[in-house]
Amino acid sequence: MMLTGAAKLAGIMGWPVTHSRSPVLHGYWLTQHRIDGAYVPMAVKPENLRRALQALPLLGFAGCNLTIPHKEEAMRAVDEYDPAAKRAGSVNTILIRADGTIFGSSTDGYGFLAALRAELTGFNAAAGPAVVLGAGGAARAIIAALLDDGAREIRLVNRTPERASKLAKTLGGEIRGVAWEARAKALEGASLLVNATSLGMEGQPRLELPLDALPRDAVVNDIVYVPLETELLASARRRGNRCVDGLGMLLHQARPGFEAWFGVRPAVTAELREAVLATLIQK
Ligand code: NAP
Repeated sequence: MMLTGAAKLAGIMGWPVTHSRSPVLHGYWLTQHRIDGAYVPMAVKPENLRRALQALPLLGFAGCNLTIPHKEEAMRAVDEYDPAAKRAGSVNTILIRADGTIFGSSTDGYGFLAALRAELTGFNAAAGPAVVLGAGGAARAIIAALLDDGAREIRLVNRTPERASKLAKTLGGEIRGVAWEARAKALEGASLLVNATSLGMEGQPRLELPLDALPRDAVVNDIVYVPLETELLASARRRGNRCVDGLGMLLHQARPGFEAWFGVRPAVTAELREAVLATLIQK
């Protein structure tokens, strides 16, 4: 689609931003819907985040996404944020309002749940205990989404226990801290297991987790998406657990932003997955 002078503008701010798949993803939807618009990568150093956000209305941008390392700092740089951002403690989607003010939202939790719902029939957060590995930014958004969706018990396993207790205190609800060494036993009776650590990601250490105690009808979700089929997913699949990979969350979290900026609610399709996957494999 040829860009005109009236093209709608959005993009992603990160430092570095070269690893981001969002330009491919949004570019796919822009082409698919023949939208006069562009989505561009913006390499913004941490110390420049506030000024870069303030420049968006001046440049006529409809908004943008934020990635590492800006998501937490953005809470202090926006004019207002929504309850999802408050719960997640971070902002990944910016909307410039008609009066030029900067509005922040978090769609990570939405993306996580939407992927589970899209890929599994009858997913129910209230079905039983959920074991979440990790207490970083992604884990917080995921746990908040699970609790808000009716989860009654979260077993939070993190290497640094203080970080887990802080997260539990901030979010409230039934979150039980579990020592990292006790992670295999924590799987007993669980209905959902989520890896929200960076373990198992390319270039990171392996995630060592015997699955013997995990019920075979439990769902396993690894939010790491490079590689797409992590060791955790491969061993869970071998023993018959239903599995969801990390690409679904990445694709679904992008939908609300695209709709807000470009006016079309885009769909996550097998063809889109293939297009983004191709860029993960090429690298
Ligand atoms: P983060 O805030 O840096 O948190 C990292 C987490 O991993 C912490 O809980 C940390 O534990 C744990 N960890 C790191 N190294 C460890 C080790 N050697 N042993 C045990 N635990 C270790 O990162 P994040 O932003 O939450 O992201 C986490 C992962 O999710 C990354 O791989 C990221 O790519 C992925 N992610 C995927 C999506 C998606 O859409 N699929 C979205 C967001 C993030 P400590 O607290 O003890 O340091």
